[in-house]
Formats: sequence, C-alpha cells, structure tokens
Amino acid sequence: MPKLFYYYSAMNAGKSTNLMQSAHNYEERGMRVLTLLPGIVGKTEIVSRIGLRRDAIVFDGDMLDASMFESISCVFVDEAQFLSRNQVIFLAGVVDAMDIPVLCYGLRTDFMGEPFEGSKYLLSLADEIVEIKTICECSKKATMNIRIDEHKELVKDGEQVQIGGNESYVSVCRADFFKMTR
Ligand SMILES: [Zn+2]
Repeated sequence: MPKLFYYYSAMNAGKSTNLMQSAHNYEERGMRVLTLLPGIVGKTEIVSRIGLRRDAIVFDGDMLDASMFESISCVFVDEAQFLSRNQVIFLAGVVDAMDIPVLCYGLRTDFMGEPFEGSKYLLSLADEIVEIKTICECSKKATMNIRIDEHKELVKDGEQVQIGGNESYVSVCRADFFKMTR
C-alpha cells in the first residue's frame, strides 16, 4: 500500500540530500518521479548543502493537474513545511486515489517553536512520520531552530516565512532553544 510519509527534522539535517538520493534510487530502476516545491518557497530548484541539485515543479494553489501523475512511481516534496492545509490534503488524495507514494521532507517547527501549517497537517495526516536526526552544538539531539540575522544576532519574533531575507538558521536542542529564546 502506498503511503504518505513525513520526513521531518531541524534545519541542516540533510533533508534535501536524503530526498535527492531517494529520487535517484527510483530513477536508477527506470521509474519516473515527480519532485515538487511549495510555491511560497519561490524557487524551481532543490539545492542541498553538499552540492546536489534537482529541478522541481512549483506547487501553487490547492491542487495539481491529475495528468501530471500519469506513469509516476513516487512523488517527492521538499520544504514541505510550507505546504498549505489544502495542499497536504491534495497530496493525501494522490496516495489514496492514485496509489502513488508521496514523500514529504520538511521542518517540524519555526524559529519561535511553532508548527508550520504544512508540518502541522503532515504530522496529523501522514501514514509514516520519520525523524531525520541532527545534533546541537552541545551534542544533544537538535529538534528546534533559531533564526540569526545578518549581524549574527538572535531573532526572537517576526514573520514565519521571510522571502529573500539575509537571515540564517541554526538547529539546537530544546533545552538550548528555551535558554536562548526566553
Ligand atoms: Zn544543545
């Protein structure tokens, strides 16, 4: 039975790398895959920190044309925390009605420790929820993200999605997250 998967982690755990390796494994066996990015990301390419790249189809609106899924063996979604509720429900329908597995990769929470819309509904609706682990500077598991501005200062509030900003993110453990953000 095909399933809806949510592979989640903090920032910089290698989600995009994981996605591209899995997509490659399908293609190596002669199967076709569809790689999607939520429209809000504003990009048409997935780039991993270790240098892998892959073109993606932009997922705008609530649904995609059913013809796009013909002869597709697997669907991959990067930056899946940015999916809307309706987009997650559409992808669940791809699994249930078209019998195609959908593998979503994304964050669990934003820099304020709040769930993203996409992560909230993926954590609620996915058949399989899989953590991709990464570590904090203190060597505990990193599960949270802090936002750093262009002057290397911690940012405690602001917009959840900053398009084209100069901020960066560091993944930290929960204890350090609350130590730093309180
Ligand atoms: Zn820590």
